[in-house]
Amino acid sequence: MAFNPKQIEQINRFELDMLMQNFGSKLLPHNHPTTIRVQNVVRRIIAANADIKEFEGKEFGVSVVDSSVENAFVIPLGHVFVFSGMLNLCSNDDQLGTVLSHEIAHCILNHGAENVSFAHLLDMISIVIIAAIWAVIPIDSFSVLMHWLYQKSIKIFLELPYSRKTEMEADYVGLQLAAKSCFDVRESSAFWCKMAFLTKTFGNGPEIEFLSTHPSHEKRSESLDNIMDQAVQLRTLCGCPKLTWRDPRLHVEAVNKAIELQRRQFFEQNKKPVDVIKIR
Ligand SMILES: [Zn+2]
Repeated sequence: MAFNPKQIEQINRFELDMLMQNFGSKLLPHNHPTTIRVQNVVRRIIAANADIKEFEGKEFGVSVVDSSVENAFVIPLGHVFVFSGMLNLCSNDDQLGTVLSHEIAHCILNHGAENVSFAHLLDMISIVIIAAIWAVIPIDSFSVLMHWLYQKSIKIFLELPYSRKTEMEADYVGLQLAAKSCFDVRESSAFWCKMAFLTKTFGNGPEIEFLSTHPSHEKRSESLDNIMDQAVQLRTLCGCPKLTWRDPRLHVEAVNKAIELQRRQFFEQNKKPVDVIKIR
């Protein structure tokens, strides 16, 4: 950590003020049914995990941004931001619960402060290296080229793997938070399976994980499945109601296959590429 707790808190408060100002008129009112829905999901996670000491001192407010952006995040202070685009992607409260548990996991794992410190460290190393190169070969164009190469290498070999590592960590902890909150944890894997299908079929094709800040949707779904039994057991230990016999993962798989089949049939009949169809 490159900053003391007081400095981190100042940065976090500044971040909250900036976000509130930026989203301004796009924020839904507190009494809007959508905001109330998200508040209820967040309250459920907080109440079920109140025994975790990292939850202490957090200010878990909720803001819903009326925008098609498919995103949700929690700032280190604890405030949850969800965009309507993300709410449209979540088929039910269990999917929303697992998505928000992942975001809250980032918050309690202190990933925000770690990211700021990590970026600060990389900047310091960058200054030293560029100064050393310029001292040996004092040609500005050469320094600029080396700086560009350095930035690219840092991104691919340090920043992106670090970011993917924190994502996997938040998936692991988030699934436990969701299990304790009695959400159907299988919906987490179903959600990423659906996202993988949507990206591959209607987006820009399969993702290239090596060049991404996040693990691929498929990998995410697979690694969540690997720890699913553990999460289901934790859920049972917490006295949650029994899971339904209908596994949402199988349902999503069946829907994906049916849509793919329809697309192929349509393509065969029309012999021309199918336009992008938005499905929810
Ligand atoms: Zn994340």
